[in-house]
Amino acid sequence: EKFKEGLTKTRDSFVGRMNELFAKYRTVDEDFFEELEEVLISADVGVTTVLELIEELKDEVRLKNVKETKDIGPIISEKLAEKLDKTGEDAHLNMQEDALTIILFVGVNGVGKTTTIGKLAHRFKEEGKHVVLAAGDTFRAGAIEQLEVWGERVGVDVVKQTSGSDPAAVMYDAIHSARAKRADVLLCDTAGRLQNKVNLMKELEKVKRVIAREVPNAPHEVLLVLDATTGQNALSQAKTFREATDVSGIVLTKLDGTAKGGIVLAIRNELDIPVKFVGLGEGVEDLKPFDANQFVYGLFQ
Ligand code: GDP
Repeated sequence: EKFKEGLTKTRDSFVGRMNELFAKYRTVDEDFFEELEEVLISADVGVTTVLELIEELKDEVRLKNVKETKDIGPIISEKLAEKLDKTGEDAHLNMQEDALTIILFVGVNGVGKTTTIGKLAHRFKEEGKHVVLAAGDTFRAGAIEQLEVWGERVGVDVVKQTSGSDPAAVMYDAIHSARAKRADVLLCDTAGRLQNKVNLMKELEKVKRVIAREVPNAPHEVLLVLDATTGQNALSQAKTFREATDVSGIVLTKLDGTAKGGIVLAIRNELDIPVKFVGLGEGVEDLKPFDANQFVYGLFQ
């Protein structure tokens, strides 16, 4: 239900245009496909993905001998779901049994990183887990305080140092504090400067090195947070971060705020990094594990 609600803008625009298309073209022909291509591109699905999708649809239509556009709807949703869930994997996180799980969050300022950390902390708490937050964005003014606000709201501890201190030192402290508290999960914020890729890379590498020295094989997840409302820009951010560090999953925020939710497809298909969570609102409950079938269902129903 939350999925459907969060996708309202995308669905209204997408379904509206699809219905126009089906009304305009009764038979499946080249003109129909051309216009379908435009509809998908305008939903921010991304040119590469759209072209692939159209080719696959054409093959399927030929194979199944589909002549009328009214019969093509289910095939489109099936293909979209396939593109989103290429390996059949779900949104599961690499959680450690009976040991501290460390999750690092990366992404540029304003994408919803802090909010996502707060929402995820809430989610883990609801599951009965003991959560600690690490205020690793020591660069942006207000970032530490903002994380503390979330810590209070959700009722979890925040490990911090003063603004401007070394993020790697914050992580070191946070790991020791989390261990002393026998915490299950440590969620780590990081600075989101993209202006200087070399610095970003160096900082992330140092943070990761310190974490791995304290906890072998950690961080267990590196989640890249992207803002769906920035469309194709989110895709290029993702490419930059992927060059800077290993990203294990994506959190796509603000899907509720865009009519171009097709960006999920572009990200999934062009980056080959699983989308693990989506943000569907500003509230603490508005972070949902990503599910390809629910997403496609939410688009069409
Ligand atoms: P950060 O700079 O990356 O830490 O971004 P913030 O967590 O401060 O979020 C920036 C703004 O986006 C805030 O006003 C959040 O309430 C808002 N936001 C974050 N996630 C979502 C979401 O899924 N939906 C909506 N509508 N707003 C969101």
